[in-house]
Amino acid sequence: MAEYRHILVAVDFTPEHTQVTDRAVWLAKQTGAQLSLIHVVEFVHVDLANELVLPQDMELQTRILETAETKLKEIAEALEVTGQVQQWVELGATKLEIHRVAEEQEVDLIVLGSHSRHGIGLLLGSTANAVLHGAPCDVLAVRVAEN
Ligand code: AMP
Repeated sequence: MAEYRHILVAVDFTPEHTQVTDRAVWLAKQTGAQLSLIHVVEFVHVDLANELVLPQDMELQTRILETAETKLKEIAEALEVTGQVQQWVELGATKLEIHRVAEEQEVDLIVLGSHSRHGIGLLLGSTANAVLHGAPCDVLAVRVAEN
């Protein structure tokens, strides 16, 4: 069976994210795969044509992106892996950005968390469901226990 060569881990900065990164690190060690991390910032709806974005929104968005880059770097540095861990902080729709980066970087496995849902959460669906549909590669949904 072919081994994974490039694993992309979707990180959401919740305290539970370590359950997802731990599983991905374990898998990367088993397969010798390269590990990359992605975080997607879904912030203001940018609609420049209709001037719906105020300058202060753009500044706030830039600050949020910078903060996300710092956080993702800290998480990457804390991982117990030998190789370099690439990091992607993207702005847009989570599913689309994860799919785009996975395709562009020739990822063969996306790893993300899956929460048990009920009530309104179930109705709204989950990132894991969304990413699974139309994914350009395998997807591993790690069952996340709430801390
Ligand atoms: P949720 O939709 O909140 O159940 O999130 C499930 C999983 O999707 C998380 O454990 C992460 O792996 C991933 N995820 C959610 N939001 C993001 C985000 N903004 N950027 C990257 N990954 C995310």
